[in-house]
This record gives sequence, structure tokens and C-alpha cells, in this order.
Amino acid sequence: MPKVAITSLGCPRNLVDSEVLLGTLKRHGYTVSGADKNPDLLVINTCSFIQSAREESVDAIMEAANLKREGKVGRIVVCGCLPQLYKGKLLDELPEVDAVFGTSDFAKLSSYLKKIERGARHEVVSKKVDYLYDDSSPRALLTPKHYAYIKVSEGCDNFCSYCIISRLRGRLRSRTVESVLKEIKNVSRSGSVKELEIVGQDTTLFGKDNYGRPMLAELLKRASCLKNSVEWIRVLYTHPAHYTDELIDTIAGEDKICKYLDIPIQHASDRMLKNMNRKTKKRDIMDLIEKLRARIPGIVLRTSVIVGFPGETDKDLKELLDLIKEVKFQRLGAFSYSKEDGTPASKMRPQVPEKVKLQRLDEVMRAQQKISEAYNASLAGKTLKVLIDEKVEGERGEFLGRTESDAPEIDGIVYVAGKGLKTGRFYDVKITDSLEYDLVGEAV
Ligand code: SF4
Repeated sequence: MPKVAITSLGCPRNLVDSEVLLGTLKRHGYTVSGADKNPDLLVINTCSFIQSAREESVDAIMEAANLKREGKVGRIVVCGCLPQLYKGKLLDELPEVDAVFGTSDFAKLSSYLKKIERGARHEVVSKKVDYLYDDSSPRALLTPKHYAYIKVSEGCDNFCSYCIISRLRGRLRSRTVESVLKEIKNVSRSGSVKELEIVGQDTTLFGKDNYGRPMLAELLKRASCLKNSVEWIRVLYTHPAHYTDELIDTIAGEDKICKYLDIPIQHASDRMLKNMNRKTKKRDIMDLIEKLRARIPGIVLRTSVIVGFPGETDKDLKELLDLIKEVKFQRLGAFSYSKEDGTPASKMRPQVPEKVKLQRLDEVMRAQQKISEAYNASLAGKTLKVLIDEKVEGERGEFLGRTESDAPEIDGIVYVAGKGLKTGRFYDVKITDSLEYDLVGEAV
């Protein structure tokens, strides 16, 4: 049986595409192997959201090309956002690559396999980005068995002035509630999936296009009622402008819904928020956070902010720092603005010098480090429910896990001491120590 290996870059939404691609290839007789196991086919599912992501994607392709030259890889296929951004250019630029597929075309790979195996080179990148997988799409999960990403929609209609996502992923298109519920039944049939991560570009607008109104609350209510092994349903990638009271009440009222929310605010200066086309003002953000904390006591909030956006002044940055220190998000990711050609923000003046961006990024992260440290210290002595992700190699009785307030791959972890703990199981863990971003504890 031919072997396929995949390198999946970028965000969880891209990971779901990789899983659908692998599921499709398995139906065509391929087995999934590592890139170091001489695969017949090596797929690079790329990201090109910002410059650094593009560089990472090109590095991965170059690495694959070296393996091919050494005869350790058969065919190389590049998918995802890089081919979509560089439509019609990649095959000429990358002679070692056998085929490229866009963000709406990767599922077509299986129908090109024979030609590719015979050495034909293909570029399949649709201009119109309209593909959307559903519950009938085969998926080979790449996450650990106990959690899975559920992509409820693709594309985005928000057009933040710095973002190229809608060019790469198209306009917002939501799946149906029925299709998502069926998929949840499919992925949880094994009984090992304990946690679901609900993803999209803006999950709070799920259903707005095909139902005419946001349907996330409805979906979460019905997903919470499903009889299955899932105990945690986590909502990621929400937008502060698109919360409804119904959604907040649902998150508050359903035990399975993690009392954890990912709400990128991007900035706090109204001038910056306007130029970013974020559809919110600082007052709106503060009102939302007050409402969430009042309605859902103990809610843990993650946010993302951008520093160095064109025209950002010291006064704007101070507004952002003041809000961060006042709100005390338990989790915060900060990014320096990346000028993306063709975006409205790329034409804005003045562009902030790189040196200044990095200084501001450092200031924000130092402020957040103190906040995270203080929050983690407040958990010492408490007993928290922890999901074990893995056993630490070579360390007797040491495991890595996460609390309900830790999304995989982006938040902190818990170092858990204990005997014979099982991966993918929940344990009560007494927190004995805290670090800036992580916790230490022992299973009780
Ligand atoms: S919400 Fe804004 S930043 Fe996020 S994908 Fe949509 S346009 Fe881009």
C-alpha cells in the first residue's frame, strides 16, 4: 500500500483540511506514515497568513525537495494557502514539486493521483474559493485521540483591514447545524474523544450566511445534549462584535461548554480599532467583558492583540497597555503588525518601524507575563480537573495535561505527578506550584 506523509502548517482550520485530505487518500488505499519513512507521497499543507508563515511554508517545501533529491520521498504535493496566494506561480518556482492544490481544491487530489504517480505535474487552484467539507467527508485525525477540531465554517466576511484571510479562504460559508452534529457523532463514536475545539475564522458568525442569524448558541445547546464521551466543548476564534445574550446564556448554562473563551480584541484605541475595521470600540469590548464575567463567574478569557499597526502612537499603545492591565486576560497572544500587500492597512501611513514594533511587543508581553504569573499563583492549593495529554518521556510519574482553561497548542500546561495515569483521561490534580504560564500539581 502506498504511503503518504503530511506536514500540516498554520492554524487548526488548516489541520482539519489536512485530516480530510488524509481521510480521502486512505480511501484510495494509502497508509499514513511519517515523512522519515520514505513516503511515496509527501503533502505539505501550507499557511501564508503573514510573511513569517510563508517563510515557514517555503522552508518545509525546501526540506521536502532535499528528501526527494536523496530518493527518500516519491512525489511532493503542496496544498493550502500558499498556492492560493501565489496562484499560477508555484509550479515554475518549485521544480521538485509535482502538484499544487488551492484551499478549495485539496480534496480533488485523489483524482490526480494516477497522473502524478506517472510523473505529470499539475496546478489546481480555483479562483473562486467555495469548498466546505461536511460530515460525509472522510477524516483521519492528526490530533491525539482524546480531542478533535470541528470546523463549523470557512472563510470570513469581516474584512479587517490588515487581513488576507478572505482572499485565501473566501467569503463566510457555514455548515448546517445537522452536519456539524453528525460529525461530532462520527468523531466521538470511538469513545476516546473527550474534548472538542469549535473553530472557524469567526465562530460567532456561524450560520449568519445560511440561516440568516448566528446559530452558534443553537449548535452548542444541541451538541451539549448529545450522549457521548465528550466532556469539554471549547469555542475558539470568536469576534467581540458578534456576541449575543443567547450565546452568553448558553455558555453559562451548559456544563459541557468550557468556561473559557477566545476573544481576539486586536487593540484598545478606538482610532486603531476603526482603522483595523474591527467593528468594535473600547467601550463595547469592556461592556462585553463585564457582561461575560458577571454572567459566567470564573470565566477564563484569552485574547490576541496586534502592536505596530500603521499610525499607532505611544498614546495608542498606552491605551492598549492600560486595558490589558485593567482587564487582566488570563491568556494573551501579542503579534507585531505584518504588512500584507493588497490590504487596506498596507496603504496606511505612517508604517511603524520594525524596531518600534518589537519594543512595543516586548512591553505588552512583559505586562502580560506579570498578569499570567499572578493568575497562576492564585490557583496554588486548588484542585483542578486536568485532561492528561501525554506522559513525559523518561520522567517516571510525570505527565503533561491541561485544565479547562487551556486550549491545546496555544495555552499553558500542567506538569502532573502521579502513578499510572492514562493519556486522554481526566484526573483531579492539586496545584502545588505555579510558573509564568504553566502549573505544577499532583494527581489526588
Ligand atoms: S475576523 Fe478579521 S482577522 Fe479574523 S479572519 Fe476575519 S478578517 Fe481576518
